[in-house]
Amino acid sequence: MTQHFTLTLLPGDGIGPEIMAVAVDVLKAIAPQFDLAFTLQEALIGGSAIDEVGTPLPEATLDRCRQSDAVLLAAIGGYKWDSLPRAQRPETGLLGLRAGLGLFANLRPAKILPQLLDASSLKAEVVEGVDIMVVRELTGGIYFGQPKGLFATETGEQRGVNTMAYTSSEIDRIGKVAFEAAQKRQGRLCSVDKANVLEVSQLWRDRITALGVDYPNVELSHMYVDNAAMQLLRWPKQFDTIVTGNLFGDILSDAAAMLTGSIGMLPSASLGESGPGVFEPVHGSAPDIAGEDKANPLAQVLSAAMMLRYGLDQPAAADKIEAAVMAVLNQGYRTGDIMATGMTPVGCKAMGEALLRALS
Ligand code: NAD
Repeated sequence: MTQHFTLTLLPGDGIGPEIMAVAVDVLKAIAPQFDLAFTLQEALIGGSAIDEVGTPLPEATLDRCRQSDAVLLAAIGGYKWDSLPRAQRPETGLLGLRAGLGLFANLRPAKILPQLLDASSLKAEVVEGVDIMVVRELTGGIYFGQPKGLFATETGEQRGVNTMAYTSSEIDRIGKVAFEAAQKRQGRLCSVDKANVLEVSQLWRDRITALGVDYPNVELSHMYVDNAAMQLLRWPKQFDTIVTGNLFGDILSDAAAMLTGSIGMLPSASLGESGPGVFEPVHGSAPDIAGEDKANPLAQVLSAAMMLRYGLDQPAAADKIEAAVMAVLNQGYRTGDIMATGMTPVGCKAMGEALLRALS
């Protein structure tokens, strides 16, 4: 029996529409093969929403997302909107979407593909076999804590303030997601904090340690964030699953991304307690190459696969998309960001066409 799903597509800005077009073609190709039917509805977010309706997250977009089974997002942002007041910036739309859908857990796999060993800036023996899952808290911490803002001091100076704050329940719910993710992987969880300096991190460490009692089959360790940054570059294979707060996770997941050679290869999933998840590439809108058919669409396509796996419970369709990505890499197709000697250079569209051939 055909299964129907309503998907909200948020192409956003920069290379967003180019890579989304490839992912949509892939979803349309895969649907009949697995007896799936997708109702695809597009909505505005980010800079394009600012240009059209004056706000980075129109209410209509949030409504549409809430009423769908999953949300596939490309990327937002660009130079054009960088000087707008904070509340009107594209990034504010993204933060609003995460908060509006209650997406508190961000899962970012960083897995080295054997075909792309040479694309990493680290030595092959350091990165070969790396398979890390960074579980980042997404709706708390310093990006949301109060007070925040620009204030005038008594001496007439300006003072910028942000507050890193976590409640015990916020730490517990992300901790549970991370322990469960670790259970499905190699059973090792490293919690990253700055407990030697920050009270908020001491609470984080205490709560994660206490939670660990409920997961005796997971080996829990703790690491300070500065050391974690160093260890990720020194010997990344020591990590299986990492759990950390919003700010540290933002930075460490990008560092983990670079181990794999290209940020253009990495998908992510953002999940809440219930309701639709948002699936999106780790990279941004790459305004430096937007509109030039140079973008690597594979992170977007792998995000669609993650959506099928974690959002729609369609693992077979996800497997098929992931196999198609491996196939095009094995055939030697490379966009500029992952180009290597002897490979066939392609643009975004041609990579999409190669994927469709691999799927057919
Ligand atoms: P970025 O990820 O957009 O780009 C960093 C570098 O990686 C650039 O050289 C870019 O060309 C390259 N790159 C990124 N994705 C690529 C792809 N698919 N194929 C080939 N090359 C790719 O990060 P940035 O330059 O720091 O930010 C640009 C804009 O994106 C900013 O406005 C930023 O706020 C926004 N941004 C959005 C998100 C998001 O939508 N989730 C995330 C990060 C940054």
